[in-house]
Amino acid sequence: MLKSPNIPSNYGFGIWFNKKEKREYYVTPLVNCQVKFYKNINFKYGELLLTTESPKFKKPVCDVIKNNYYSPMEERYGMFLIKFLNADFTDVFSAYKTFFAFYGIEFLKEYVNNFPDIHSCKTANDYLNLLTKVFKNSKENLISLQKDIRECVDFTYNLDNSNSYNDVYPHIRYLSHALKNDLYRYTNNTNVYFNKLFVNGTDGLSPNLANPTKVSKSIKDGKLSYKLSNIYHSTALSNIVFISLDEIALNTYVTIKKCQNCGKYFIPISKESEIYCDIMYYDKEKTCRVKGAAETFKKNIGDVEAYKLYKKTYQKILMQIQRGKTSPYSEKAKYFTQWKQQSQQYLKRYKKGSISENDLNEWMQKSVDKFDKYKDNII
Ligand SMILES: [Zn+2]
Repeated sequence: MLKSPNIPSNYGFGIWFNKKEKREYYVTPLVNCQVKFYKNINFKYGELLLTTESPKFKKPVCDVIKNNYYSPMEERYGMFLIKFLNADFTDVFSAYKTFFAFYGIEFLKEYVNNFPDIHSCKTANDYLNLLTKVFKNSKENLISLQKDIRECVDFTYNLDNSNSYNDVYPHIRYLSHALKNDLYRYTNNTNVYFNKLFVNGTDGLSPNLANPTKVSKSIKDGKLSYKLSNIYHSTALSNIVFISLDEIALNTYVTIKKCQNCGKYFIPISKESEIYCDIMYYDKEKTCRVKGAAETFKKNIGDVEAYKLYKKTYQKILMQIQRGKTSPYSEKAKYFTQWKQQSQQYLKRYKKGSISENDLNEWMQKSVDKFDKYKDNII
């Protein structure tokens, strides 16, 4: 391998990003209390999910989850920030279920003196006791930091509906908020390691033998990646959160929204018009995108303007064709067939939550207006 940057993996928290593939990676000591590796089909490494909705700390043996810089935890781009924004810091159990189960507690060292070593936990109950103590000492700081970061995200993506500086790009809004509120102070406890000096695997290329051919091969083999960000390591949550915020907010291809079903922050996967989140904490959890959207659809589809217009127009044109007012071979009838199919596709997309009601209404109105340009030419 290339020169090892020697990043600590037995304490603190290390995180890095792949903008292009929309992934992020982290390494930190983690204790297994009813979490499991979940292997997303498109991911190289595993991510963590709780095994059950309400984990109990009853497991007699408390094992440490193996992860290191050769085999980190992997998540979708921006998930650390999103989980922090949504974390429920009401009590130790809600905090564990929504945040600490996935990321550990190593970054709470900035708030707790004489931080206990999690490796000393012998049983799950030991871990719960340790977690409770650490959480109690950091709760106020956690809530206050979350409030500051939420304010910044709300301003950046105009989620507070204040409509101030509405015509300005999110990344510019972010920079102004971060500078004004001195969020850059949250870089005081971060070590930065250059990913390019770190090749996965022990058979990477030797630096003194590096040449363009060998570098190309290492890139092709996935051992050297110049598309990854630097690796950031810290024992301060504020620093890790700020690094994630800065990464996401300055990426003009990404946006943050609030779920119309549960109100959680989320990053739309493909289309900006997605309105439901896909946040998952435990195995087999039905996300809002799957559940909420389907329920809303069943409940409200009859009230959606686009659906009423679809039904009315469908009946009207069908009647015209049946009564011979419009020839079934006319351009208008051809458009009718095409429009029916497209409308059904759009209604389905609305049902899945991948387009908003507004977008659906707008599309339906435009597509119905097009009928006006066809003349009724009777043969
Ligand atoms: Zn949701």
